[in-house]
Amino acid sequence: MQNDPRSHGLWEKTAPPAPATGPLKGSVEADVVVVGAGFTGLSAALHLASEGARVAVVEAVEIGFGGSGRNVGLVNAGMWVMPDDLPKELGEEYGNRLLDLLGNGPSLVFSLIDRHGIACEVERAGTLHVAHGPKGLQELEERAAQWRKRGAPVHLLDAAETARKVGSTAYAGALLDLRAGTIQPLGYVRGLGRAAIEAGAQVFTGSPVKGVTRSGSRWTVSTEGGSVTADWIVVATNAYTGTPWAEIRSEIVLLPYFNFATKPLSHNLRASILPERQGAWDTKNVLSSFRFDQAGRLVFGSVGALRGTGLPIHRAWAKRSIRKIFPQIDAVAFDAEWYGQIGMTDNSLPKFHVLAPNVVSFSGYNGRGIAPGTVFGRELALHVLGRKTLADLPLPASEVTPVKFQAARQASIEAGAQLMHLVEARL
Ligand SMILES: Cc1cc2nc3c(=O)[nH]c(=O)nc-3n(C[C@H](O)[C@H](O)[C@H](O)COP(=O)(O)OP(=O)(O)OC[C@H]3O[C@@H](n4cnc5c(N)ncnc54)[C@H](O)[C@@H]3O)c2cc1C
Repeated sequence: MQNDPRSHGLWEKTAPPAPATGPLKGSVEADVVVVGAGFTGLSAALHLASEGARVAVVEAVEIGFGGSGRNVGLVNAGMWVMPDDLPKELGEEYGNRLLDLLGNGPSLVFSLIDRHGIACEVERAGTLHVAHGPKGLQELEERAAQWRKRGAPVHLLDAAETARKVGSTAYAGALLDLRAGTIQPLGYVRGLGRAAIEAGAQVFTGSPVKGVTRSGSRWTVSTEGGSVTADWIVVATNAYTGTPWAEIRSEIVLLPYFNFATKPLSHNLRASILPERQGAWDTKNVLSSFRFDQAGRLVFGSVGALRGTGLPIHRAWAKRSIRKIFPQIDAVAFDAEWYGQIGMTDNSLPKFHVLAPNVVSFSGYNGRGIAPGTVFGRELALHVLGRKTLADLPLPASEVTPVKFQAARQASIEAGAQLMHLVEARL
């Protein structure tokens, strides 16, 4: 996008076209203005418009410009944190509600894909969280036990079964989560946009919101070319927030994450690696992820930004790691490379804010946003429609709390990833 081949990489090459949209011009009246056209904003818009609300979505660049169009495409249930940590952190009521909603998150994504005929290379074979060494396996055993206690269809696999499912002997075991799957993320978010428009929403792109004012009970958001006046604002700008809701960014540490897509692999290789087409990621601190796209390209990712000194370091590491994990691939050649920014929070949980009366936002998904963004967008829609009170939402409304040493923490993540990848590429 915007002539940057490293912004959306493979997904931009292979996604169906976005629905036709253009910049906001003149004055638009609506019930709700949604700012940001990612999973959160478009799920909110779709659920609002389906119930007859007049919705205008205003997006700075294009549908899926933020994390929604750049991610790995693992549609996972729950969050990064251990299931039992949610009730501990949020209290029993919110914690169990969030677990329930996000445990069922992938099924909401898959049902929207079915209902709206969204072309996004969906695979519903589950995901594999693969264990790096005994410590990784111990973590997965604990995670499996906590999910099973809640009746989730997760299975702990031993090293031999993992080797069969992954096509590599690199792992000590794996957690197979049958609720999960993979998608072509830009295809999904564009499909949500199309569905929202078909339900009656207006979607404006190339329109960064620059200002917001209040008159009586109505809000007006303004762009260079126009304005939308509405009763409610759903702020869905998340880790790509600029102005005017800079406070959302102040509590997020940006973690860069890249992906390389190989050229389509031979049929033999495709039959030996991830033969059932699960998506996978490992238990390392500087983690790696891998999955196939529909054309048989292996999409391989990890922490880091593909710019400056990071680009050659991460590229060399990715080639070496693919060969180490999958020695059956003798030559690795890439078709695409891209990266984006993940919004991390202090407690690894998302944030819900009431930024002003009738101005609501969810943000900070910690790299787990396909299902959560879709769920939170629907929950915001239900709140705006008056069907759910604040107390019924998945998270308590919190004050914005800026993170300490934000710039230094962001710089140290990239420096640490480069160092790790530099060392690992030589091992
Ligand atoms: C590289 C990467 C890999 C990831 N992998 C996974 C994964 O495998 N599985 C998973 O579940 N999650 C993953 N995630 C996380 C997931 O992609 C995000 O959590 C999710 O996309 C957030 O969606 P969103 O709609 O809230 O925000 P975004 O998709 O970031 O959308 C925000 C939008 O707001 C717009 N915007 C910002 N400011 C303004 C303004 N002033 N006016 C108008 N518009 C504005 C932006 O242009 C952007 O389009 C990954 C993220 C990244 C970056």
